[in-house]
Amino acid sequence: MFKKTASIVLGASILLTSVGMGVHATTNDKEAKTTSKSSVKNVIMMVPDGYSTAYATNYRWYKGKESTMDPLLVGMVRTHSANTEVTDSAAAGTAYATGVKTNNGMVSVTPQGKELKTVLEGAESKGKSTGLVVTSSLTDATPAAFSSHVTDRNNEVAIPSQILSNDVDVILGGGKDFFLPEKLGGKQTSQNLVEKAKKQGYQYVETEKQLANVKGNKVLGLFADEGMSPELDRETTKEPSLATMTTKALDTLKKDKDGFFLMVEGSQIDWAGHSHDAARAMKDAASFEKAVEEVVKFAKKDENTLVVIAGDHDTGGMSVGGYDQYDTKVDILRNVTASAPYIESKFNKDFSNVKEVVKQYTKLDLTDEEVQRIKDAKQSNGDQPIKDSDNVAYTISNIISEHALIGWTSKAHTGTDVPLYAYGKGAHSFSGLKQNTDIANLLAKAMNVNLN
Ligand SMILES: [Zn+2]
Repeated sequence: MFKKTASIVLGASILLTSVGMGVHATTNDKEAKTTSKSSVKNVIMMVPDGYSTAYATNYRWYKGKESTMDPLLVGMVRTHSANTEVTDSAAAGTAYATGVKTNNGMVSVTPQGKELKTVLEGAESKGKSTGLVVTSSLTDATPAAFSSHVTDRNNEVAIPSQILSNDVDVILGGGKDFFLPEKLGGKQTSQNLVEKAKKQGYQYVETEKQLANVKGNKVLGLFADEGMSPELDRETTKEPSLATMTTKALDTLKKDKDGFFLMVEGSQIDWAGHSHDAARAMKDAASFEKAVEEVVKFAKKDENTLVVIAGDHDTGGMSVGGYDQYDTKVDILRNVTASAPYIESKFNKDFSNVKEVVKQYTKLDLTDEEVQRIKDAKQSNGDQPIKDSDNVAYTISNIISEHALIGWTSKAHTGTDVPLYAYGKGAHSFSGLKQNTDIANLLAKAMNVNLN
């Protein structure tokens, strides 16, 4: 928050510090000085949703060298939720945001439904500015966990008004449908939240170009009706990249002398995993990595910023290699230039051009048998609209994964541990095997925030 009161207090304490040199400081003054010195000014939590060790390894082969995250590895995270070994993003986000394990599906409330204070809310109580930057809808589980409290993650309609009443300064991502009542169809909300946001002092933007021109301290950017485009297809849209949104968030939030808390999510690595679209997962990991580069550059220069990076769980049970072979061919994914649903959208009505279209977007020569598998998937698909999880897109993804020797064991999440990365002031305290709840507690400690 850019509160006048906060800067007055800060000014006063600087005055006290410089004038107080020759004066006996009370114990309280001493304590206050020590805490303000030891606490971190800016905290940035980055979540590559679904990014487990298999994603990290495959991504390294895909890139051809170490990722930007690799040298920042400090530990591993145990991801289980309160009620199951295999968490969803709601319970996982709650653990990262509040330090408490809840049941799958619940967003920053206890299993009994009691609201939990989040690190974002704690940062605000310290006068810091806050931001949420995601490629999903802003009402999705991870951003919701930092900014809202609902007993059921599917109650997305309830989330935008909570984000706005929490006065999150920078709000960038998808989810227009949940802010504009006329778009919601059956799921009506009573008010137009974009208009409400404007009254609260937000600049509202809908395109990359408009975002570039934002000058104020508060911005609401909604770039898609629900989730934004996969990075593989983004060129065909006017949407900003995750790195562009993150840079704008840093430029805006850094103006606050009290510091800031920012959560950045590479939301769609997870979506790619659910639909077994390995190329899309790698490309979205690359997009996330670009955002990490911007954040680390900022933290390096600032010297008073903590950066923590961790996926919230594995998605799809991805493997490195598979199909009984001692090999991977991840490099072929570099030739894939569109997501599976996009490729599907280019098939003609009778699917007679499957072979040519797949070749155009993947450089792969499908066998007759593989072409037939895609045609068979169409039969079982009926008139379903094209989306990640439909049978055709799913079959295309599975075939590409087989060529790349990337295996999948589930359409859901799995319960494996995930890598934990940290950089900057206080990064060392994240080393070791952590519970996901430890992350929130350490973030809170870094900002001198009490979550209880
Ligand atoms: Zn997921």
